[in-house]
Amino acid sequence: MALMTGEQYIESIRNLKMEIYLFGEKVDNPYDHPILRPSLNSVRMTYDLAQDPQYEDLMTVTSPFTGNKINRFTHIHQSTEDLKNKVKMQRLCGQKTASCFQRCVGMDAFNATYSTTFEIDKAYGTNYHENFKKYMMYCQENDLMIDGAMTDPKGDRSKAPHEQEDPDLYLRVVERRADGIVVRGAKAHQTGICNSHEVIVMPTISMKPEDKDYAVAFSVPIDAKGLFMIIGRQSCDTRKLEDTTLDVGNAEFGGVEALVVFDDVFVPNDRIFMNGETEFANMIVERFAGYHRQSYGGCKVGVGDVLIGATAVAAEYNGVQKASHVKDKLIEMIHLNETLYCCGIACSSEGEQTESGNYLINLLLANVCKQNITRFPYEIVRLAEDIAGGLMVTAPSEKDFRDPKIGKYVDKYLKGVGNVSTENRLKILRLIENLALGTAAVGYRTESMHGAGSPQAQRIMIQRQGNLEEKKKFAKAIAHIED
Ligand code: SF4
Ligand code: FE
Repeated sequence: MALMTGEQYIESIRNLKMEIYLFGEKVDNPYDHPILRPSLNSVRMTYDLAQDPQYEDLMTVTSPFTGNKINRFTHIHQSTEDLKNKVKMQRLCGQKTASCFQRCVGMDAFNATYSTTFEIDKAYGTNYHENFKKYMMYCQENDLMIDGAMTDPKGDRSKAPHEQEDPDLYLRVVERRADGIVVRGAKAHQTGICNSHEVIVMPTISMKPEDKDYAVAFSVPIDAKGLFMIIGRQSCDTRKLEDTTLDVGNAEFGGVEALVVFDDVFVPNDRIFMNGETEFANMIVERFAGYHRQSYGGCKVGVGDVLIGATAVAAEYNGVQKASHVKDKLIEMIHLNETLYCCGIACSSEGEQTESGNYLINLLLANVCKQNITRFPYEIVRLAEDIAGGLMVTAPSEKDFRDPKIGKYVDKYLKGVGNVSTENRLKILRLIENLALGTAAVGYRTESMHGAGSPQAQRIMIQRQGNLEEKKKFAKAIAHIED
C-alpha cells in the first residue's frame, strides 16, 4: 500500500497509543477531541488531495527507490521541478485548509537527513545513510505522516548545550548501549506531532566537540515508551469546546503545537542517523531550515489566498467593494502574497543537486523567502482588518444570534448589504478573525515570524550566503579602484 485514503489515515492514527496532555489532563481519545480534531483534519487533506485525479501530478510522484506511486510529502526531491512542485502543492493545501497542514516538516526532515547522512558516511564510514534509506522507504510504502523535530528548549541562549545548568535543555544521548542509544530532552513548538506516526529528531544548532552527546539524529514511532506531548494553548481555543461553529471561523481545519518530552527514550541502532559527529550538526540544521523556509513560500501563500478572498467577500458584504482605496488595498495584498510565492519558486528553480543525489534549494533565496514572510503576512493581515471593519472583533456570539428574544436585533442591526444575510456576513468576519487573531493566527501570522526560524536566524544566513566580497569587487571594478 503506497497511498492511504484520508479515512485510512485517520484510522491509522486512532490505532496509535499516544500520550497527550491538554489542560492538565491526559486525553483519552485525542482523535475526537474538539480542540485537536481540526488539526487532524488538516493533515487528512494531504491524503484526500492525493486521491483526487485533479491533483494527482502535484500530490503524488513515482518513488525512484521503490518504483511505486507515493505521496509527494514522503518524496526525496529529484530535480528543481520537484522542488517547485513541492511549493505548488503546499500552496494548494493552504488554500484547502486555511491552516497549517503540518506534513511538510517531515518532508523537509527527510530531504535534509537524506543528504547529510550521505556526507557523514563519506567522512566517517558510518552506516547512517543506509539506515535512513531503509527507514525512508518504509515511510513511503506505508504513506506515513512524519514530524520533523528540531527546536530544543535552549535554556540560556548565551550558553552552548553542554554549558547549560540543566543538561537536558538540549536533547542528548544519556546512555550508549550495544543495541542502540537512550535519549533525554524535549522539542518545543512541534507542529502536528500528535497527528504523526513517526518523528525524526535532529539537532537544533551548530556544535563544538564538547557537545558530542547533543549531536544526535534519529527516528522513533510516536508512541515510543517515554515520549509524551503537552499541547500548547491558542487564543480562542476554547471556542471549539462550545456549541458553535460560527464563532470558530474555521470549524473544520486547524493546527496545534506541542511540547514533546523524550523521557529516556530508546532508539535502536538502525534508526540512528547521527551520533556524535558534531561538525555535521550545522549541515543538517542549515538544510532542514532552508527547506522549511522554502516551504513557507507555499503554505503561507495558500493561506494568504484564503485571507485575501475572505477580505474581498467582506468588502462586498459591507458594500465597499467599489471604493478605489478598497480595490487598491486588495491589489496590495495580492502583490505581497505573490511576492512571497515568487521567493518560494525562485529558491526552488535555483536549487542544486547534493552529493547524495537529491536536490537542495538555493539557501540564500530560501532565507530571503522566509525573511519576507516574517513581514508581509503582517501587512496582509493589517489590510484585511482595515477592510473587514471593527465588527470582526466586536460581533456578538452565535448564541446571541440564535436567541429567540435578542437574535432578531443582532440580525437587524448587523446586516450589511440587502441581498446578503447577517449570518453570512458574520461567517466571513469570523473567518478573518480566525486567520488574523484566532487559532489559525498561530499557523499564519505568528508562525510567519517564528516558524522555520525567527528573523535573525535568516539574517545570519543571508550574511553568510550573500557574498558581500564579490559585490565590493564589482563596485571597485566599475570605479576603477585597484588595491
Ligand atoms: Fe507546512 Fe507551513 Fe505548517 Fe510548516 S507552517 S508544516 S510549511 S503548513
Ligand atoms: Fe511551521
